[in-house]
Amino acid sequence: MTGIPLVDLAAQYRSYRDEIDAAMQRVCERASFIMGPEVTELEERLAAFCGTPYCITCANGTDALVLALLALRIGPGDEVITSAFSFIATAEAIATVGARPVFTDIEEDTCLIDATGIEAHITPKTRAIIPVSLYGQCPDMDAVNRIASRHGLAVIEDAAQSFGAVYREKRSCALSSLATTSFFPAKPLGCYGDGGAVFTTDAALAEHIASLRLHGQTTRYHHRHLGMNSRLDTVQAAVLLVKLTHFEDEIFRRQEVANRYHRLLADLPIRLPPIREDRRSVWAQYVVRSDRRDRIAARLAAENIATGIHYPVPLHLQEVFSSLGYRLGDFPHAENASHEVLSLPMSAFLSENDQLRIAHAIEAAVGT
Ligand SMILES: *Cc1c(COP(=O)(O)O)cnc(C)c1O
Repeated sequence: MTGIPLVDLAAQYRSYRDEIDAAMQRVCERASFIMGPEVTELEERLAAFCGTPYCITCANGTDALVLALLALRIGPGDEVITSAFSFIATAEAIATVGARPVFTDIEEDTCLIDATGIEAHITPKTRAIIPVSLYGQCPDMDAVNRIASRHGLAVIEDAAQSFGAVYREKRSCALSSLATTSFFPAKPLGCYGDGGAVFTTDAALAEHIASLRLHGQTTRYHHRHLGMNSRLDTVQAAVLLVKLTHFEDEIFRRQEVANRYHRLLADLPIRLPPIREDRRSVWAQYVVRSDRRDRIAARLAAENIATGIHYPVPLHLQEVFSSLGYRLGDFPHAENASHEVLSLPMSAFLSENDQLRIAHAIEAAVGT
């Protein structure tokens, strides 16, 4: 039987091939590979899509976090609070600027940062909170923003997995004064390589970030800040402009795929992903939970169905952070999730037949 990939990027390309080929060809013929007109056009369109004033694209979602932290002048001696359960990049960016990542546990059911646990970690050194919109769903951003404003902290939404999601009628990336996203190919809105963006409501921060991604320059060969080389390639901007025109439709279809999973898996002894009533997930991952996770994954692999584990090790137990002094047992919800989560194939191009195959394979693994 043919395999089912985790994200069917080839099917997506087949659907938009003519438009994407033409867009890439235009860039090649004009030969404006760095900061071409597509980059500015994309930034305007992304900001409009989210309903936030400023978007600054950059080389990837990790750099986007670093740029946001640098713009806030966060560095050595500072602490930044984030979720214990995320992709490494969230905490890596904090450590990269020289600050200390301070972890907090997640909600047991959603795997999102538990806002009620944040205040216990605030110290005089705390400068910011990075809530992560994991699997395509935003955490309780109003609660996070309230805590932050009470203590004079910045909030950076790590929206690498949630571009297109909605929280209380507002889009992800427009929920706090700073947000970052990623256009890694497998993300909900992906390009054909690496890409990322920072969103902000603050004109001064926007200007600072735009300078930082261009070696801290003010005008050509005049440099005010110690910056980075972190631009989005024009070719990637051209691909994203095409994909953005289809994105609303894809979000709709991803929701349909998720609804079908809910129906097909409803009677099996596994936990399905909970979405809060005031939110719409963009379904970066469709994550089920089971204490027989490895058995399910093995069964699906035997039937040539890809799965993922996002993530097998919580951030506080990652080897790279062993010097921070965290121990097993510190964040039980994050630790339990790391043993139970399993991401199933998800994309706007997943067929009903393939979903039936996936459901039958899971049933065979856990059925009684
Ligand atoms: C993918 C991801 C990133 C990093 O994005 P890159 O573009 O791969 O650098 C950061 N945070 C989270 C939660 C992610 O999923």
